[in-house]
This record gives sequence, structure tokens and C-alpha cells, in this order.
Amino acid sequence: MKYRLLAPGPTPVPDRVLSVMARSIYHHRTPAFEKIFADCRKKLQWLYQTEHEVLTLSCSGTGAFEAVFQNFFSPGDVIINVGGGKFGERWGQMARVFGLEVVSVDAPWGQAADVDKVAHALTQHPEAKAVICVASETSTGARHPYEAIGALVKEKTGCLLVVDGITAVGVWDIKPERDGIDVLVTGSQKALMLPPGLAFLSVSDKAWRLQEKSKMPRYYFDLAKERKAQNTNQTAYTPAVSLMVGLQESLAMMQEEGLAKIFARHARMAKATRVAMKALNLELFPATPADSLTSVCMPAGLKPNAIYAGLRDRANITIAGGQDQLKGKIFRVAHMGYFDELDVFTLLSALEVILLQEGHAFTPGASIAAAMPILAEGFA
Ligand SMILES: *Cc1c(COP(=O)(O)O)cnc(C)c1O
Repeated sequence: MKYRLLAPGPTPVPDRVLSVMARSIYHHRTPAFEKIFADCRKKLQWLYQTEHEVLTLSCSGTGAFEAVFQNFFSPGDVIINVGGGKFGERWGQMARVFGLEVVSVDAPWGQAADVDKVAHALTQHPEAKAVICVASETSTGARHPYEAIGALVKEKTGCLLVVDGITAVGVWDIKPERDGIDVLVTGSQKALMLPPGLAFLSVSDKAWRLQEKSKMPRYYFDLAKERKAQNTNQTAYTPAVSLMVGLQESLAMMQEEGLAKIFARHARMAKATRVAMKALNLELFPATPADSLTSVCMPAGLKPNAIYAGLRDRANITIAGGQDQLKGKIFRVAHMGYFDELDVFTLLSALEVILLQEGHAFTPGASIAAAMPILAEGFA
């Protein structure tokens, strides 16, 4: 079997991107590099649909969050962390490491955050400097109502909305200004069709004002220093040059497809996958599924990792299982980034074979039949 990467990050990288990254690297203090980075910066603002500055950092998504805590706050500041999964939990833990007071508003894993509870926390803590929210909680597959939270935070001058958009940017229509997002973070290895190693964040004027007042120690992730350098198409330190060459190509591919078509493709693949799972007598885990991945409850009677291991050992496919409290309880498949309708058919076919071998009861072919009319719309 060919190797197939169908996990929610890292995701597959197109040949076009791989081949430009295989070329000899540029020295970064050259006009040639500056030309590439200038183009990337323009295209990133297009992808983010924003006038806010979008900064590029050489690190994984978690590094960009470290930059957030180091740049916009001071020790002792209060933040409201909207949890409900592994990533929400991570940002709360990280904030505490930096000496912030964390007010947790947690949803049960798989449920969407409760906006009323966030509103209540904001009234209880008028001094809060930020609300942190994950748009697409990849660990559970749930989408959170960051837009409604944005409407609450927008009015407050000293309070930011920071959104983890790592599996939302490039998947659906998320817009910093419209949605009230001050800092929107994403990473290279999800919808951007790149290997891991780059992270991005857009920064509003309100956030830059807090940046000036922040007393948190920082060095590598000094965003004021990065802003100054990146405004001249340079970076403060040696950037991941090969990845940035790849970024220019992946963003060019995204522009060729266009945002409307990208969002429609993701919505179509997500809808087809959800309908297909139900046709296989499988239950979706999240109450409000995101379009970037589908998270499915392990059927009763199967060994906890029967599907993950079956796909890995007998079909050479990587998907993802559940983490922490969801270990052995769910499996997660992606339809994000360099994915198309035929990838969904492939995944469903392989899943049916494994489910049959494992003795799960369903009508063979049911998932394909259910997904077919939806996926067929992509054959334009
Ligand atoms: C993948 C992911 C991250 C983690 O980022 P790293 O690049 O592994 O540091 C954070 N948040 C979400 C929602 C993700 O999907």
C-alpha cells in the first residue's frame, strides 16, 4: 500500500511545494529572500482576510502562543481561558507558567464553549486582559463560538480576543476584524499544506497597544522587534528559509483555487464524512463539528485502537486516535489542506475494510453511497 497521511496535522504536502523546498537555500540577508518574504507577507494578509499585520515565526503553533503570553501581558494579569479539549488546556497551562491568573471557562470535551459563561466571567473579571479561545479544538473535533465571544470582547478597550485558529485558518471563513479577533494564530502543518515549523499570528492595533505595556521577559519572540524587521521584509533572526520558500508556493496554490472554493471544498468533504460515518452506524463525537476534521466515537465491541492500528498496519494510513481522557474512545480523520474528494473516498473505503475485518455491523458500501452525492459536487 502507498503511504497515506490522513491525520489532522501534520497534513500532506503537495509535490509543487516539496519541489521548491528541495532547491538550494537562499541566504536570508539578500534581496532574493526579501522578495520572497514580501510576497508571502502580502499573501498571508490575503489568507487571513485582514488589514492587521501578520507576523511569521520559525516555530510550531505552540511557539506562537508562547509569543502571545510573552508579548501582550504582564505577570499577575488575569485572562479568561475557554477550554474544552487538549489545546484549550495547553493554553491555560502555558498562561500559568508565565505567571498569569487564569479564569477557566471549560466546556465538557466535545461540547462547544458556553458563551453565556464567558460573558459571566467577563462581568466577574472586568480587569481581564484577554479571552483565549480555540476556534477548532482539534483534540475533540469541536468548533467553538469565537465570533459570539468576539462580539463581547470587541467593546472592551483593554481586553483582547486571542484565537487559536490552527485548524480554522484556510478551512473556513474566519476574519479578524469582522469576528473581533485581536490575535489569530495558525501553523504551517495543517491547512497551509506545509511541513511543520512555521507559525503565524495577526495582531490588531489594540493588541499592539498592550504589547507596549507588557512587562513579560522575552527575547526570541519579541514581537516589536519582529514587526520592525518584518516591515522591511526581514526577520529578527535566521528564519526557516526553506519553509518560507514552500510557503510562497503553497499560498500561490491557495490563491489559484481562491478562498471561496477552498472553504466550499472543506465544507463538502466534512459534510460527506459526517454523513458517511452515520451510514456506517458510527456516532460523531463533537456536538458542533468543525470542518477541518471528523472525530468519531469508537464503536462498542471493538478494541480501543482497532481502527487506528488496523488502518496503520493493514492500509498504511495514518489517522489520529484520542488523547488523554479520549484515548481509545474516539478516532479522528482529517479533511484539511491538501485533501480532495477522492481522499475522502479512499479513507472511507479503507475504513469500511477495517470495520468489516473487526466485525462491526454495517452495510458494505454504505459510506460511499452516502458520501457520493455530496462529494460529486466537487467534480466540477
Ligand atoms: C496542531 C494544533 C496545535 C499545536 O500546534 P503545534 O504546531 O503542534 O505546536 C495547537 N492548536 C490546535 C487547535 C492544533 O490543531
